[in-house]
Order: sequence, then C-alpha cells, then structure tokens
Amino acid sequence: MSSIWSPLAWARKRIAVKAAFLFVSLFALFAALMLAVNVWSERQDQTLRTFALAHAYATHAEATIERDGAIVGETVDTVLNDIFATGDVLAIRVVDDRGRVIDQRGSASDSYPPDEAELANEAIMAGEPKWEEIGGLAVVARPLALADGRSGAVLLGRTMAPVHAAVADVYRRGLLLTLFGIAFVIPVTGLFVSRALRPIRELTEAAQQAARGRLDVRVETGSGDELETLAEGFNVMLDRLKGSLEHVRRLAYSDHLTGLPNKSAFGEHARRVLQSGEERGGAMFLIDLDRFKRLNDTLGAKQGDRLIRSVGERMKSVLARHEKRMEKAGYNVDAELSRITGDEFALIAAGFENHDDVEALARDFVSAISAPVDVAGQQVVVSCSVGIAEFPEHGTEPDLLLRNANLAMDAAKKAGGAVYRFFDTEMTRAAVDRMTLENELRRGIENHEFIVHYQPKVAARTGRVTGSEALIRWRLPDGSIRSPGQFIGVAEETGLIAEMGDFVLQESCRAAARWREKGFEVPVSVNVSALQFERDDFRRKVHDALNAANLPPQMLELEITESVAMTDPERAIAQIQPLRDEGVRFAIDDFGTGHSSLSHLTRMPFDTFKIDQSFVQNLDSDPNARVIVQTILALARSLQLETVAEGAETAEHVAMLQGLGCATIQGFYFAKPMPERDFVDYAESGPKLEPLSESSVLRINPAS
Ligand code: C2E
Ligand code: MG
Ligand code: MG
Repeated sequence: MSSIWSPLAWARKRIAVKAAFLFVSLFALFAALMLAVNVWSERQDQTLRTFALAHAYATHAEATIERDGAIVGETVDTVLNDIFATGDVLAIRVVDDRGRVIDQRGSASDSYPPDEAELANEAIMAGEPKWEEIGGLAVVARPLALADGRSGAVLLGRTMAPVHAAVADVYRRGLLLTLFGIAFVIPVTGLFVSRALRPIRELTEAAQQAARGRLDVRVETGSGDELETLAEGFNVMLDRLKGSLEHVRRLAYSDHLTGLPNKSAFGEHARRVLQSGEERGGAMFLIDLDRFKRLNDTLGAKQGDRLIRSVGERMKSVLARHEKRMEKAGYNVDAELSRITGDEFALIAAGFENHDDVEALARDFVSAISAPVDVAGQQVVVSCSVGIAEFPEHGTEPDLLLRNANLAMDAAKKAGGAVYRFFDTEMTRAAVDRMTLENELRRGIENHEFIVHYQPKVAARTGRVTGSEALIRWRLPDGSIRSPGQFIGVAEETGLIAEMGDFVLQESCRAAARWREKGFEVPVSVNVSALQFERDDFRRKVHDALNAANLPPQMLELEITESVAMTDPERAIAQIQPLRDEGVRFAIDDFGTGHSSLSHLTRMPFDTFKIDQSFVQNLDSDPNARVIVQTILALARSLQLETVAEGAETAEHVAMLQGLGCATIQGFYFAKPMPERDFVDYAESGPKLEPLSESSVLRINPAS
C-alpha cells in the first residue's frame, strides 16, 4: 500500500510537480479546444463541399430532364446513367408530386425513405431546392417541371464518407500534435519551474540547516525577484538570531561579576578537558573562600562583590603564571577556571608535568588569596580552602571528580581553612560513614532514642550539689548508650542538632521542675549549639521550654562555647541580654580553649565561666595549667562571675581547685552523668566533700 502511495505523497510535496501538472492540464485543455474548433470547421467545410457537388449534379439532372421533357412513366436514362456512373452519387431518383418514382438508380424498390419523400415534397411545394443529411447521405431535392405539366423533383444522395474521413483525419492530426506538445511541455515546464524554484530550494535547505543549529548558512539567489528579497530577509533574520543566541549563551554561561565561565559552562569545559586530557591526566580544583558569609555580612554585599572580583583576578593571574611556566617547559596546559557559586571557584586542568605541579598551583592559590585585599580603602584578609581530585586516579567523570574534590575541600575546611587537600579514598569511606550515621540519627530522632543524663555540680565550700549539667545520650535499640562525642559533630553538620537541642532543653526544664516539686531546688545547665543560638526563634524556644515546664527562669542556665559567643559578639549580646534580664543564666563553656579577646569577653553578659577540663586534668602535672586556672579564676573574680571547673577526676584535682578558690566543681570524681531518677538520690545523699574548715585544710570525702 505504502509503496503505491509514497511516490504520490512525495509528488504532492513538490511544487515543481504541481506546476508541471497544472501546465500540462492547461495545455491539454487548450489543445482539446483547438481540436474541437478544427473538427467543427472541417466538418462544415466538407459538408458544404459535399452538398455543393450534390447540388451541381441535381441542377444538371433537372436541366437535362426539363429540356428532354420527361413525363411520368418514361425513363430519363441518359442523364441518370451519366450521373450515377460518376460513382460519387449513391442514389438518384426522379419523383413526381405524388411521391411516385419516375426513374431511379442505386435502388431497386419503388419506395424510398419517408424523410427523402418529405424533403422532395418540401422542395416541390416551395419551388426551390432543399437539402438535408439523411441516413448518412447528403440528400438534395430540386423541383422540376415534368413534360405533362406536373411538378416533380430530382432527389440525389451523395455519400458523407469523405466528410467523416476528413474529420477523422483532423482528429488524428490534432491528437498527435497534442501528444507531441505534451511530451514537449512536460520537460520544458519541469526545467523552467525547477529553475524558477531553485532559490526556494536553497532557502528550504538553509532553513533546515538552521533548524539543525547551523546559523552561519546564508542564501544568495541572485534571481533579482521577490525570492531574492525573501532570501535577504532570511539572511538578516539568521544574523539577528545568531547574535541573540550568542548573547543568551554569554548570559547563561558566564558569571557577570568576574567575567569567568559559570557553573553550567564549567560542566561543559570539564567534559571537554577530560576528553582531551585523557592520556595526559590532570586535576580538578575546588577553591572556596573561608568564612566568606561572615565577611560578606560585615562588609556589605557590594564590598563582598568587590572582594570576590579581586579574588577571581588573583586566581586568573596565578593560573596564567603557571600556564606560562609550563609552556616554557614544553607542556601544553589546558585549563578552565570558573566561578561556580557565590564564593566557590573551580578549575579543571590537564597536561601538568607531574603531581608536584598540581600541588604548586594549589599552594599558590592559597598564598595568593591570603594576601590582604584592598576593598574600598579597607584592608581585608580572606583565605581559601582548596580541594583537589586528580584524574584519572580519582575519577574520569566530571561529577565524580567534583564530588571527590568536594570531599577534599571539606577536609581542608575541617583543618581550619587556608590549606589545600588532595582527595584520598579514606575520605569517601568517612563520607559514607557520616551518611550512615546521619540516617541513623534521623531514625533515632523519629524513634525517640535520645535521653538526657545529668551530671552534678558540687559547691567547693559546702560539698553540696548546687547544680546539674544536662548531657544528651543516645540509647540504641540494643540498649547500648552512645555519648555525644560519637554523634554531635554530624548532628551539627546536618542541622539535626537543632531538633535534638530543643528536646534536651524541654526535657531538662521538665526534670528541674520535677526536682523542685520534690523540694529539691537545683538549677539545670543546658548546652546550646551554634545553630540553636544563631536562630531567630532562640528566645521563643527558651520561653516555650520554661513555660511548658512551669520552671522559673532563674533555674535554667544556658552553656555556650567561647567560639559560638565570639563569632559575632554583637549578635551574641543581642541574643543573651533579653533572656538574662528575665533571669535565665548564661555560662561560657570550655573557657580557655578559644581565642577570645578580653575586651569582648568583659562586655559579654555572662554569669559563669566553665574552666575547660583540659586545664583541670593537667593541674597536677603541668605548671602552666595551674597558672591558667589561676588567671581565669582571678579574671572571673574581677568580673564578678562564678566559676565551674569541669573534669575533676581525682581527689588531687578537687583539692587544688578548692585551694585555688574555685566555687563549683564538676567531674567524674563526684559522679558521671546519670539518669534523672538517680540524680535526686545522689544529690540528697549528703555532702560530697567535707565542708572547708576555717584553716582551709581539705579533708576529702569521695563519692559514695
Ligand atoms: P561539655 O558541655 O563540656 O560537657 C562536659 C563533658 O565532659 C561531658 O561529656 C561530660 O560527661 C564530660 N565530663 C564531665 N566530667 C568529666 C571528667 O571528670 N572526666 C572526663 N573525661 N570527662 C568528664 P559528654 O557528655 O560526652 O559531652 C560531650 C560534649 O558534647 C559536651 O561537652 C557538649 O559540648 C556536648 N553536648 C552534650 N550534650 C549536649 C546537648 O544536649 N546539646 C549540645 N549542643 N551539646 C551537647
Ligand atoms: Mg557543657
Ligand atoms: Mg565543657
């Protein structure tokens, strides 16, 4: 079926075929009209001639018969014989006015066709000749006067065959001519039309190529007609389209701030460089500015942009320097630098001489960016972390390399920034472990596997339990307990710490409220993570926990590490002050481990310093630790703050802390963190130390 229709379908789509068909149809119509006219006039002509000769014979017969005076019953032999002998006349008869045959040739019977009789009668009546085509004969009737005075007529029939033959001839010639004409018209029209359509064909081809993305095609028709105008319009349209596309491409693939390619472009570059550098090998670098967000917030977005731009410039020039050096050494480096997110740059480069060259480039990036930048007259110091994945060793696909470079960069960030790190497979394992732990954490939260333990804080003077620190624990389905060191880092990285911290806050407030109900007034200290502390709803969360437990604010202390408090001191003050005004107490946790400036510290609205356990545990072995603890205690005293020493494990630790005048002590020497119900029993079972005597001689009474 399709084999029959497909050429037809093909033909229907071709203008040349349609035009040829139209021309041939018009030609055939015209030829048919001409033929009809020809046939008609030939027939007229031939008929006239036939009748004219018949008339001549009839006139001759009439004249001869009238001269000889024929009468009815006689023969008019001679004349009839002569005429019939010509062979041109098929029948000739002389009849009288009653229709009787006087004499005849060409027929044996006396009767003759009624049409002829009628014609003879008409001629006799009219007294003039009549003629008509009857039964394929040209019949002429001429009246004549018979010798007996009566009227008669000579009827003469001449064959029409020559007429038909002539007409048939005209038909034949006409048809032949038409066929010849058509045979001529088809190729000529085809040729003509296809020539005329050449520009359209070219336009069609160009449009198809343009549709396939080749926008540099142009059509030159040179036909000088409307098609040339169309082609010119087409060319202009393609020019504009190409320009617009290039503009869009520039917008879509380049970063307006640095002029470097952007993330989309980087993907393409990476694929290209990886293909071209398959044998040579190379590396993908991820370069991320350290703590840029904070800088951006401090400097303002506009200066932040300037900083990014100048970092981009530095990286470009570091790269250019390396490329030049490598080229001199005979290596052809193929490198593409891009800015892929706000403060993150990526470089894909192939063709290094060896690993050392990759490392040298990374080192130069780190040191070039660490140099102070002048931003609107202000010297800004920014550093970057660089993660590097090499190919083919660490992958040959852009996505995998990017992932590995990212892991390497995480390692650089963890190392404190301003360093570069190469990817190694251990990082993948760590990342997988981390992801597993993250999933387990989510499951743990869903299944309420987290609980809170409480560690007592003991007053150095009285030996009584005067406080508690709430510490989260993870009780796994198998009953084993995981301590925060095993999961708090991942919880912080994934943001899950916020949810867990809220739970600890609420649970601790409820526990302290329950102790109060039993007449046991001990405040609870809750650790607050950076994420919780920085959130806008921090204050509301604390209120909610206090209200839900119906706990007075004075019974709650919040522990914030030095680094969290000092990240943005102004913001920290804004978060702390209102709550503190309401009675909530604040402590600096792990004090002494950070790098806080004293001027900032003294402005902070804290109530307590918690001396980090590393100092406490080294008290008996490291004279420096002793000096540090003494200094912290002196500082606290002058700022009128309270002090808690963490991590006292031995009687010596406790004695030394007491001797140095530390107010409160927390540590395994007294008790490890314990469940809520054990805590009250422990606290109410009497003093944990002999009260200090006036002479300050210590007698130690270890935990029962
Ligand atoms: P931290 O706030 O400094 O808590 C004190 C840590 O020292 C606790 O460890 C406690 O068990 C431990 N400790 C107390 N006395 C001694 C001692 O004499 N010797 C030794 N070696 N250790 C002692 P833990 O419970 O493992 O918690 C570790 C850290 O995890 C905490 O340090 C705190 O930073 C964090 N953390 C614990 N619970 C929470 C929580 O609910 N929220 C947040 N954000 N962090 C928490
Ligand atoms: Mg703490
Ligand atoms: Mg601590």
